Amino acid sequence: MAEIMNKSSDTHRMEKIVSLCKRRGFIFQSSEIYGGLNGLWDYGPLGVELKRNLKNYWWRVMVHERDDVVGMDGSILMNRAVWKASGHEDTFSDPMVDCRVCKTRMRADQVIEKKGARQCPNCGSKDLTEPRPFHLMFKTYVGATEDESSITYLRPETAQSIFVQFKNVLEVSRKKLPFGIAQIGKAFRNEINPRNFTFRSREFEQMELEYFCRPEQGMELLEYWKEERLKFYENIGISRANLHVRNVPNEESAFYSKGTYDIEYDFPFGRQELEGVAYRTDYDLSQHQKASGKSLEYFDEETKQRFIPHVVEPSAGVDRTVLALICEAYSEDEAPDEKGKMEARIVLRFHPRVAPIKCAVFPLLKNRESLVVKAKEIVDLLRPCMTVFYDESGAIGRRYRRQDEIGTPFGITVDFETLGEKDPSLRDTVTLRERDSMKQERVKISDLLELLSMRIA
Ligand code: ATP
Repeated sequence: MAEIMNKSSDTHRMEKIVSLCKRRGFIFQSSEIYGGLNGLWDYGPLGVELKRNLKNYWWRVMVHERDDVVGMDGSILMNRAVWKASGHEDTFSDPMVDCRVCKTRMRADQVIEKKGARQCPNCGSKDLTEPRPFHLMFKTYVGATEDESSITYLRPETAQSIFVQFKNVLEVSRKKLPFGIAQIGKAFRNEINPRNFTFRSREFEQMELEYFCRPEQGMELLEYWKEERLKFYENIGISRANLHVRNVPNEESAFYSKGTYDIEYDFPFGRQELEGVAYRTDYDLSQHQKASGKSLEYFDEETKQRFIPHVVEPSAGVDRTVLALICEAYSEDEAPDEKGKMEARIVLRFHPRVAPIKCAVFPLLKNRESLVVKAKEIVDLLRPCMTVFYDESGAIGRRYRRQDEIGTPFGITVDFETLGEKDPSLRDTVTLRERDSMKQERVKISDLLELLSMRIA
């Protein structure tokens, strides 16, 4: 019973999150005015900021703050030969099952097993087809003729452009093993059954690192990246208690992988993968070397050895992480209204580092020119360094509430004390309110930039 209660409250929580995302402009259904298109989503004004902050932080930690990683940005369409060599053209498919009664189409792992019999999760019927492979790559044509010779695919992962550019990047960056190449970009999969909001989409973004190494370093580096990646999620505000490492059993992982684990998050709809980390051996570079006839070997100056590097790949999803950030941040509590009476509030407790808007600036009254001028000066002071929202409409409590709901960590109010009208010693000070504790402190305008910059870094 308790489990059923939790399930329904989790479903309810997810519904509230989806509705907030639309109401406040985080995520919309793609092509909504035409009825949408399954598995495709658009990010609104706040969603795009959240997503960028996430990608920028990943890039900062994985590329800028390291000596041993460089970045690249590859094209989405590539020569079809890439997908033949990587094995995607032949094997990138999911087993699909159809229910003959309600016509639901599902992935084989979504079929329910009850007392040894397979059942449709939608209507409960046992009349299901045998699983058959469904190809996940979107096919397209390049150029004016639509024939066999012009076929290629929208990439289903960003990694392959890193592998095929390995030699070029190695030459220009002059890195020594171990070193990595990082990329953030779009990927496309014609998922059989997109679901759970943006969790499983047909178009999504990945943040991938291919970390090349000597064969004997592979297992150790697979372990090294575990802590690094868990720390990353903690540093964007996801609690360690909601993160889990699942070792992927051999029969589930790719045949060439010597070790794979997933980093999972407790979403309201269950524990699901955010990122996969795999030790892929030298499979990818070997395949491309064989198929292209071009050497993708590394020459070790010291030992004079020539060999194909091995690789460890932490591969994370931007959209899934954005969704995890929203789920983690969503909370409901109470805050005092204008008259001090407690009322319910929705608050997104984003880490200031990822919050779409860092700071809101309010003049206490919109019809007092001197307050408005001062508030706008503060906006101009902060804007070069952070996203700032200026709001002069409505009671101050309501303005705070609107910002709480979108996760703005700081609110600045310009009042009569700022003008020095009551106490000259308070001239050019403002109240700075913190979203979670709702505590207010009096801060000099001249200290604001440094103080806030430190807190959002
Ligand atoms: P799943 O088992 O959930 O389909 P996967 O193991 O096939 O995922 P990978 O190929 O390891 O996923 O891709 C790496 C990351 O890319 C995933 O951890 C996930 O964050 C993201 N990703 C993969 N497929 C999707 C999708 N359809 N929608 C959103 N993100 C995705």
